[in-house]
Amino acid sequence: MNRRKFSKQAGMISLGIGLVPMIACKSSKELGKDGTSAMAAGTMAEPFTLPALPYAHNALLPIIDEMTMQIHHGKHHAGYVTNLNKALETSPLKGKSITEIMMSLTGNATENAVRNNAGGHFNHTLFWEIMTPGGAKMPEGKLGEAIKKKFTSFEGFKTAFSDAAMKVFGSGWAWLAVDKNGEVFISSTPNQDNPLMSKIVAQGGTPILGIDVWEHAYYLKYQNLRKDYVTGFLSLINWDVVGKKYAAI
Ligand code: MN
Repeated sequence: MNRRKFSKQAGMISLGIGLVPMIACKSSKELGKDGTSAMAAGTMAEPFTLPALPYAHNALLPIIDEMTMQIHHGKHHAGYVTNLNKALETSPLKGKSITEIMMSLTGNATENAVRNNAGGHFNHTLFWEIMTPGGAKMPEGKLGEAIKKKFTSFEGFKTAFSDAAMKVFGSGWAWLAVDKNGEVFISSTPNQDNPLMSKIVAQGGTPILGIDVWEHAYYLKYQNLRKDYVTGFLSLINWDVVGKKYAAI
């Protein structure tokens, strides 16, 4: 992370793109290689805190119901934050930023509490940020070009992303991420893992979009109909924010 890039992100934050006030970022040294995502992931240092939702609990109706939003953000995400801070008390990863923690994980079982809760905190922070009741309804600019190059068309992307989300067996996430060459790819991970955990996952990269397919994300409204939830989610994506994340890498 160089100074120019940091300044660029600081500008984005001041425009309200991020979820946290600038005070959370004490220096560029604390930013992970994915910068923007790290900025959005609550505080950059312990104790990690629950970021406020960027919209009301009922803002994503009718796709996501108000009670799901309240429980998902106020109970599930809050729980990951609390348990992350607790797990770090006895972890050698204490003192690292959220992205540094994930990039350091090796998959050793002794890391599981940190792995699950750091992932939970990062993933949900990203998830809230990349949904919106308004915003651009399809990717434009460089991200739009990268998606077309990889998936032929926006429809091709939606089909591939939906397929990845449907194939997650049990609890997990599907992602649109960026590899070290700047190319986008779709992947999925179990539990609260994500592509930043490059020593653990099949394909490492920087996630710019993710869908939570844990049942707690949709079961109250959709029960077993995950496909309807995934289809609805695709219409809620904030392509303005996702595009800015892609541009910042
Ligand atoms: Mn969740």
